Amino acid sequence: MADCVFCKIIAGEVPSDIRYQDDKLIAFPDINPLAPVHLLIIPKKHIASLAELSEGESPLVGEMARVANQLAKKEGIAEKGYRVVINCGRQGGQGVSHLHMHLLGGRQLSGALG
Ligand code: 5GP
Ligand code: ZN
Repeated sequence: MADCVFCKIIAGEVPSDIRYQDDKLIAFPDINPLAPVHLLIIPKKHIASLAELSEGESPLVGEMARVANQLAKKEGIAEKGYRVVINCGRQGGQGVSHLHMHLLGGRQLSGALG
């Protein structure tokens, strides 16, 4: 998608500190971190949101969770705890229309999602 900022990061057109990469997924820091560790894990394929995920693509979300767990260990937040979030659609608070999983940790997060 030409006008998608995450596709531009995947293409290397927008620089980013890539923390993980395989044939299907990449992860990089959020530009506006809400916690000491705030990474975004995204599929390389442009999928607009969780709602746009086809049945055949559903294993991708499990892969994203696997990468989140792996990165949590790497970033040193696995033991104390962390949060993964997928916002979906406008009322779900999704601002970038390319499926992404937030990995947040390194501070006490409240019980409520707000
Ligand atoms: P959403 O609100 O859609 O769940 O989350 C989108 C996230 O992408 C936001 O936390 C925002 O800070 C982040 N973001 C938006 N544009 C960029 C960018 O160009 N680079 C990076 N690294 N993160 C971005
Ligand atoms: Zn995209």
